[in-house]
Amino acid sequence: MSSSHKRFKSIDTNLLHAGAIRPNIEDSVVTPIFQTSTYLTGGDRDYDDVRYVRCSNTPNHAVLHARIAAIESAESALVTASGMAAITTAILSIVKTGDHILTQRCLYGGTQMFLNEDAKGLGIDHMPIDLNDPSSWRKALKPKTKLLYVESISNPLMEVGDLKAIVAFAREHNLVTIIDNTFPSPVNFRPIEIGFDLVVHSATKYLNGHSDIGAGAIVGSQARITKATKLLNHLGGMLDPHACFLLERGMKTMGLRVRQQNQNALQLAQFLSKRDEVSEVRYPGLSSDAGHKFAEKLFDGYGGMLAFYLKSDAMAEPFLNSVTIPLHAVSLGGVESLVVRPSRSSHAGLTAKEREALGVTDALIRVSVGIENIDELIEDFSAALSMSHVKEAKRA
Ligand SMILES: *Cc1c(COP(=O)(O)O)cnc(C)c1O
Repeated sequence: MSSSHKRFKSIDTNLLHAGAIRPNIEDSVVTPIFQTSTYLTGGDRDYDDVRYVRCSNTPNHAVLHARIAAIESAESALVTASGMAAITTAILSIVKTGDHILTQRCLYGGTQMFLNEDAKGLGIDHMPIDLNDPSSWRKALKPKTKLLYVESISNPLMEVGDLKAIVAFAREHNLVTIIDNTFPSPVNFRPIEIGFDLVVHSATKYLNGHSDIGAGAIVGSQARITKATKLLNHLGGMLDPHACFLLERGMKTMGLRVRQQNQNALQLAQFLSKRDEVSEVRYPGLSSDAGHKFAEKLFDGYGGMLAFYLKSDAMAEPFLNSVTIPLHAVSLGGVESLVVRPSRSSHAGLTAKEREALGVTDALIRVSVGIENIDELIEDFSAALSMSHVKEAKRA
């Protein structure tokens, strides 16, 4: 009894069947939860043959590894306890003390803090580069630069860079590339297909899609994933079998969910860009957006994440208090819409000046668009915008 190697042509079929155990235990249709930490030894020759929950080699792990590899067009994959476990493990599987990393300018807060504090403490330095200015990249190189780390769509301003140019630059200079593909999800973009070496995910978000577990994934070649697995075995950030089961269940509907979220987000972005209370909308699906020209060529859809600036900082609080359908919470990628103010959440650790420089002002609202009825959602945003305007006027 083992996970199947068969792959299908489309992501939707792979989401249901790739890696499934066939025939399954007791003829079950769904992968059961193997709620056991250890397995009988069967003439194991070395440590890598031992089946033990921390080694991420239970049947629940095997199914997910084959399935996630299939949907990302990769040889291999590894699930982890969180997105941060995936990111830190992937980075540390490439660089060691004395090495140097090039990164995108505005990264996910957790990744940025890991690089600023923990990686730096280990003697691993990094240098931010401007993805929109390829002529500046070469100057940032050092003799010990080993890794180039980017995100497919950046948080919270939804920037999409020239990702093909990034891959070409990295190849020219012998750098390993890692890309955080959480925001588009593999439904909209598969970075391995354009030559990235490793893809990381917060599976807490779109892969699971239901805001009810923490999980992550690393995707890439067999050799790179074997190396990352050995490191994860030491660091200990494996995914529990019960969370594996929930992630497998959540992933089955990712195609349906994400395509609905693509549609809803585009409609909401178009609605917001026509409103007087809004000064700017950031969404790669809008033809006016700076990243649109790259997103259009690379992506099958523009995703469910958008951000917008209200006309004044004072409107943000009344707006957040007036929407009745989206929930005011951090995180993203679930079926329910969420709204958040990045200056008070992901970027609260920066100084006001640093936030201003990045464009993360108090007037910026980030939306993770869910699968609610879009007319009802737009009605709710419309009412809240009108309300925030009235309240702001009264205050002034
Ligand atoms: C949430 C998130 C992470 C971190 O994932 P966790 O599952 O919370 O550890 C990393 N990158 C991006 C882009 C995210 O949105």
